Parts: sequence; C-alpha cells; structure tokens
Amino acid sequence: MTILDSLTEALSRLPGIGKKSAVRIAYYLLQADSAYNERLATEIRELKNRIRRCSVCGNYTEHDPCDICTDPSRDRATICVVEQPQDVAVLEASREYRGLYHVLGGVISPIDGVGPEDLSISTLVGRLHEEGVQEVILATNPTVEGDTTALYLVRMLEKRGVKTSRLALGLPVGGDIEYADRLTIARSLRGRTPLSADE
Ligand SMILES: [Zn+2]
Repeated sequence: MTILDSLTEALSRLPGIGKKSAVRIAYYLLQADSAYNERLATEIRELKNRIRRCSVCGNYTEHDPCDICTDPSRDRATICVVEQPQDVAVLEASREYRGLYHVLGGVISPIDGVGPEDLSISTLVGRLHEEGVQEVILATNPTVEGDTTALYLVRMLEKRGVKTSRLALGLPVGGDIEYADRLTIARSLRGRTPLSADE
C-alpha cells in the first residue's frame, strides 16, 4: 500500500467522509504547504495528549476540573445531564443555560449490553449531595434509548427528592442533540417539561 492509499483509507474512516472525499483531501494535503500539514499532524497528535475528561462532570477539558465546573458564576443548583461531551458544546452554544452539566458517557441500551452501571450515574448521585442540586434537566437524545435512560434517572432522582425536567420541545423524535441548531436548543431549554416517574 502506498502512503497515499494508506492516508486515503485512514481519512475515509472519519465521520461524513466517503472514499471520494478522502481521495480529494489526500491530494489536497499533497499539494498543501508543509507548515499546514505539520500543524495538522501535531494538533491531531496533541488532541489526545492534552484533552481529558473532567473528573467532576465528564466533559472534555484541557484542565481538570473544567472551566464550567470551576466557573463561580454558574448556577450550581441545576445540572443538565447529557449523553456525550459534544452535547455540552451544543447546549453551551445556545447561551440559554447557566447551570452545570453531567456527561453520562452513553445511554442505557440492553441490545448493546449497556446498563446503568456502565454510565457515570454514581458520580451524578455523589454530586447531588455535594453541590446541593435542586433540578436535574435530562437532555438525553429523543430516541428509545435516550428516553429509557431519562426515565431510569427520573425514578432514581425522585426518590432523592430532586426535581427533574426533560428537554423535549422542538427536538425531532429520534433526532440527535448534537445536530440540533442553536434556536431549537434554546427553545427546548426554555420549554422543558417537569417529569414524574408515574407518567
Ligand atoms: Zn467539569
């Protein structure tokens, strides 16, 4: 395999990049300025070296705890629970939310063998006590797994006397928070619905 073939193969594994685009990118890089290629290679390498998960919320960060967890101006009585770190970035971009976050690291999915114990739920429970949390906003994706996970958390949180609400309005069913636009996110945060396990 030539370096060009091997690079094309590696690039085609990136999300949203098909074989054709991979070939186009490989040829682009071949003709690009060496400094650009050097920077790209260094930044890809450094990404994993520098970025870790925040030990409090699970978000990606260059320093632990992350900027959101250490920001004194954030409302510490509210935690927004999301599936993945990229969901935090989407919700932050809406500029609608000033509370804290908690990244589950996935969703309950029996088919994939993922149970509650595989998600960072125990650390969430720990935070409820430590930070005096009054409301938990469940911002898992509106999918079967996302809903199952939200319901599991509602039952658990209600037993602990924490108010829960679900980010729902405006988000397409089966959709992905990661791809929702800013306005939709802002609207669904404002219109969040209180939840009860009896529903
Ligand atoms: Zn954090």
